[in-house]
Amino acid sequence: MTLGTIRVRLTFWYLLVFVPLLIAFSTYVYSQLAGDLRGQFDTALLRLGESAANYFKVLAQTKGPSSAAETIVQELRSAEPIPALRVRNVTLAVFSGDQLLAISNHDATYSISSSQVLLSLRTGMQNVFATDEVAQRRLVAIPVRFGSENYTIVALETIQRLQANLRFARNLILFGIPATVFCAAIGGLLISKKSLEPVVTICGQAERISAHNLNERLAIKNPKDELGHLAGVFNALLSRLDDSFRIMREFMAEASHELRTPLAIIHGEADVSLSQVRSDSEYRESLDIIRDQSKRMTRIVSDMLALARADAGRQLIHLEELYLNDLLEECCHALKKVAASKNVRLEIDSPEDCPFLGDEELLKRMIVNLLDNAIRYTEPGGYVVIRLTSDASGVKISVSDTGIGIASSDFERIFQRFHRIDASTYADQCSGLGLAIVKMACEAHHGSVTVSSQPGRGSIFTISLPHQEPRGSQRTLSSSPIS
Ligand code: ADP
Repeated sequence: MTLGTIRVRLTFWYLLVFVPLLIAFSTYVYSQLAGDLRGQFDTALLRLGESAANYFKVLAQTKGPSSAAETIVQELRSAEPIPALRVRNVTLAVFSGDQLLAISNHDATYSISSSQVLLSLRTGMQNVFATDEVAQRRLVAIPVRFGSENYTIVALETIQRLQANLRFARNLILFGIPATVFCAAIGGLLISKKSLEPVVTICGQAERISAHNLNERLAIKNPKDELGHLAGVFNALLSRLDDSFRIMREFMAEASHELRTPLAIIHGEADVSLSQVRSDSEYRESLDIIRDQSKRMTRIVSDMLALARADAGRQLIHLEELYLNDLLEECCHALKKVAASKNVRLEIDSPEDCPFLGDEELLKRMIVNLLDNAIRYTEPGGYVVIRLTSDASGVKISVSDTGIGIASSDFERIFQRFHRIDASTYADQCSGLGLAIVKMACEAHHGSVTVSSQPGRGSIFTISLPHQEPRGSQRTLSSSPIS
């Protein structure tokens, strides 16, 4: 979706909320206004009718009802009526029962007869309001009791002015709503355009970033607003990607460098052997070298594959019930000959039965790597001990040796891939991936590995593994970021 459509959609949603609110508000205001104006009109008309009724009563005392009615009507027609009757366009009529005694404007007679006023005249003791929609008049009939007779004073007034005022208000609203909506739509588009401008800028900058310039970062104008925060998160993502790319590039470079040495040896050995006819023992010697180097390459490639799979989260670990003491025995047995050939004593110290839920292959690889290192870096005559202890929280496996030891400044780095302290001495035996695999296997079992050592006196590698929850027999392994 382009930013243009987001802008339109934002405006659309904003109008969808705004327009009904505007219509509801205008309708409410109009109905309140109309009710108020009509109320004011009726109050004024009633006040006038009541004044006329009082005046009629006073006059009737002295002149009698008929001439009082005539006087009131005349008064209204006169140029200077009494103040209470000084209203333009008002008609007064006086009834005795349903008999019209006097009316100030004969044109209005129809309005009175067409309304329900005449019906209520005989019985009505209440004020009655009525409207003649055709003639556009509003009237109020006020009953007056004089002596034993019922009289009614009717006051009529044209409602044209009131209707015109209401029509004007209605038109104002009817034309005002579309105009307001139009202005709101334009305003909405402009506001959303303005608010999305930083997104457009971020998009433009992000489009220019590729694998080659991952070190570039988005410019953040205001880190405190939402888009500044988004750009910050994006920059953090770029940093992580940049780190991963850099580490991967280094890993590739290291890996090719590691493989180049055995390949060169194999190539050279084959060239030398083929350059002239050799004796059987010479051929055997060359083949031995080639076999050792291909073994080394196989080990490097399989270690790299295991780590790459763990990085990609594709390595499955198969949890199964096993006895760790048996596993340790098996690993020691596998390395017994190597230790013996180097005159290094290999000892195992473990309890009888130590059940554990773990990945057998991975655990084996981890222990073999540690034992292999311990034997390799221990001088003839030294010894290597592998110890297993277990308690309610988990198990501890420690591999200690009396070897060359490691300086404390190297403790962290030895777990990095292809890191070797003294590559030259043991160059053809090691890959620099052994401890990285140990770390990965520990983390796969939610455990950790630590080292303590003194140069020249030996090292102790300690693995702590918690007891696994026997939930699923299989889960995906993902290693910590490549280091
Ligand atoms: P390598 O294949 O080189 O042994 P590792 O990852 O297993 O790779 O070990 C990394 C480095 O840590 C080794 O090159 C070595 O210098 C050091 N190291 C590992 N184990 C020991 C040990 N038991 N004694 C002394 N140094 C060790």
